[in-house]
Amino acid sequence: MTPDQALPRVRHSRSMAFTPGKWMQVLVRLVPAAAVLLIFAFLARGRFRSIDALGWADAGAVALLVIGGVLSTVRRVRRSMAGVPLLLRDELEFGGSLLAAAFICVALGGELLFPVVYLLMAFLVTFLPRPAAATLLGSAVLFDALLTLPERWGVFLGRAAFLGLFAALYHVVLSARLAVARRAEQDAVKNKIKDIEERARTFRLVSSGANDSLPGVKDQEKWLVAAVKEIEGATGSALEVAETSLRTHTVAVFLLTSDDRSLKLHDCRSTSEQIQRERFSAGEGIFGALLKRGVPVRMNSGSGVKGVTHYESGGPDVCSILAVPIVEGGGLLRGVLVADRLENTAFTEQDERLLQVIAGEVLRAIEVERVMGYIRRSRDEKDRFFRAIEELNRAGSPEQVFLAVLESARQVAPLEFCAVTLVSEVNGARAHRIMRMTGVTSAGRALEGQTFADNNGLVANVVRYGAPLPGRDAGAMDRQIIFDDDTQIRGLQSLKIFPLVAGDRILGTLVTGSRKKAAFDSDELRMLEVIAIQAAQAVLRAQLFEAMEKMATTDGLTGLVNHRTFQGRFDEHLATARRYSRKLSFVLTDIDHFKSVNDTYGHPMGDQVLKGVARILKEQARDTDIVARYGGEEFAIVMPETDAKGAHAIAERIRERILKEVFQTEQGPLKVTLSLGVATFPDVGADKQVLIDLADQCLYFAKRHGRNQSVTVQQMQAAKPRAVEG
Ligand code: GH3
Ligand code: MG
Ligand code: MG
Repeated sequence: MTPDQALPRVRHSRSMAFTPGKWMQVLVRLVPAAAVLLIFAFLARGRFRSIDALGWADAGAVALLVIGGVLSTVRRVRRSMAGVPLLLRDELEFGGSLLAAAFICVALGGELLFPVVYLLMAFLVTFLPRPAAATLLGSAVLFDALLTLPERWGVFLGRAAFLGLFAALYHVVLSARLAVARRAEQDAVKNKIKDIEERARTFRLVSSGANDSLPGVKDQEKWLVAAVKEIEGATGSALEVAETSLRTHTVAVFLLTSDDRSLKLHDCRSTSEQIQRERFSAGEGIFGALLKRGVPVRMNSGSGVKGVTHYESGGPDVCSILAVPIVEGGGLLRGVLVADRLENTAFTEQDERLLQVIAGEVLRAIEVERVMGYIRRSRDEKDRFFRAIEELNRAGSPEQVFLAVLESARQVAPLEFCAVTLVSEVNGARAHRIMRMTGVTSAGRALEGQTFADNNGLVANVVRYGAPLPGRDAGAMDRQIIFDDDTQIRGLQSLKIFPLVAGDRILGTLVTGSRKKAAFDSDELRMLEVIAIQAAQAVLRAQLFEAMEKMATTDGLTGLVNHRTFQGRFDEHLATARRYSRKLSFVLTDIDHFKSVNDTYGHPMGDQVLKGVARILKEQARDTDIVARYGGEEFAIVMPETDAKGAHAIAERIRERILKEVFQTEQGPLKVTLSLGVATFPDVGADKQVLIDLADQCLYFAKRHGRNQSVTVQQMQAAKPRAVEG
């Protein structure tokens, strides 16, 4: 309640009682007017014309005028401090006292002092409202009439005209200045509003046009980002309007924290550096009272309003304050919008209405910011998710898939532990292998590559039942067995293990964990689940791809490189040997009398022999050599960096090793022998086909010379030069 409203009620109740105090007050209230009228009367009766003629009555009248002047000045100051508008009577008493004093001076001091009246008039016209100023102007003319008339009409008319002119001029100049100032202020407010409307239009354009009129996705993004920025600035714009139109020192939005106990600065426009930026109690001071009752508060005091909590200690003394609650539609309090001034200029009811409108704007802006923030967050989330899925789908090899799975999972949820396991069946028994993981176990040991048998751990159960585990966040995660007893993961407060399901097969699991409690929200769990499904597809695809690649490049029976792949790799090695001028040997082998092995022991036994020979060749060759199945029971070996002598030595070693091998058959033990031909680059030829043909001739030579031997081109040429030439 303002003092203005309180005043009439107090006056009314007191008029009921005739106390001495009341009479006193009435008398005091009459003093200023009485003094002015008395001076008026004295001047009319020709007093105050010379200092020598002054008597006690004159002195009394002057004393009364001084008291009246002081009383009306005090009254003025008190009323303006309380923010109560002044009455016409107050203005007249104040101005009248000054005028009476001025005319006493003129009467005593003579014509030369009359400019004092002009100056006083200028002052009164400037500072008092128009009705009071006009009345006082009339009074001044009357006073002057008492001094000059009826003898000196000329002087009176001249001074009256001057007075009128002075007052009018001042009034015009002042009005013009005021008009200019007001227009500037209105323009400032109008510009701000236009600015905000512009921003709002931008936002609407984006929200409606995003679906159709905008040309590309990139542009849409740009517009959306711009719109978000604009919207986020809306609170600031509303505050700017308040600042401009209310001429505040500070205008600020403080929002209640989630527990409703504190207020925290959201946005402000302030000339002060000391606005409270930390959270502070919502229950104290002016804000406390405002939040309790949910109604606006308007206060002012020349010595500083008490209960101001929105500045740091040592902040400025606020003399006028206006605070309105920020209330949602349902009546829920969200915070406070406060405006203050350092000078003691009270906020009016109109100011209060304006600030309430702005509080509504601020509330809307906060809501929109919240929604936009949510949209942006979830859009970023979806972006990350789709990128993760893309990444997964790009991965080719199983190794790339595992890496992509871990990376994707970490993109969509705050994981501190993540692993991919695969399950395999070995002789009907299930085994699990940890293919890839991030994060470390309590022992600081990476678990990659570790295998464990089927057990009662969570991973094994997820594979068994094909459903995510654990069902809910379990409290004591440390006691859960994720993999097996030997590999416990400690310190996880959240855990979820998803099956990698592809069709009706469960390939393994995706293990996700965090040290924080309830670390994953339902959106994140859903995304992890989808990543697990995608991961299963990717693993399956990569495994199939790997198998197909293997099938295409290796021989099904022996597991050696097949003929086609061998040809390609022979080319590569030969090119390298050529480039670096290195030797390279090519060995062709053929099992002796293999036809009879098939005939005697059966084709399946023949296959077993082929497998055995292949194994021995692989064992005896070096890692850098290529061992291939060349044809039916023929094998080829490419030996880089190997001359004829070296190759012959290896060939002999192989032959001797085969010789020793005993194959067990139903018909008893079986032994086979091997014939080998060796051709070396560049000694006998530079071309691949020449090398192959020469090795073949050596092999043929070995066969014809008793089999179970290795023959180099040099040996063959030395023994039978003509045959080679032929
Ligand atoms: P030689 O000492 O002259 O080499 O006599 P050979 O009996 O080994 O004669 P040849 O090299 O012509 O015989 C090849 C035989 O190898 C014919 C074929 O039945 C047998 N063979 C080829 N591929 C396979 C296979 O994949 N499995 C089995 N079991 N036998 C095969
Ligand atoms: Mg053969
Ligand atoms: Mg053979």
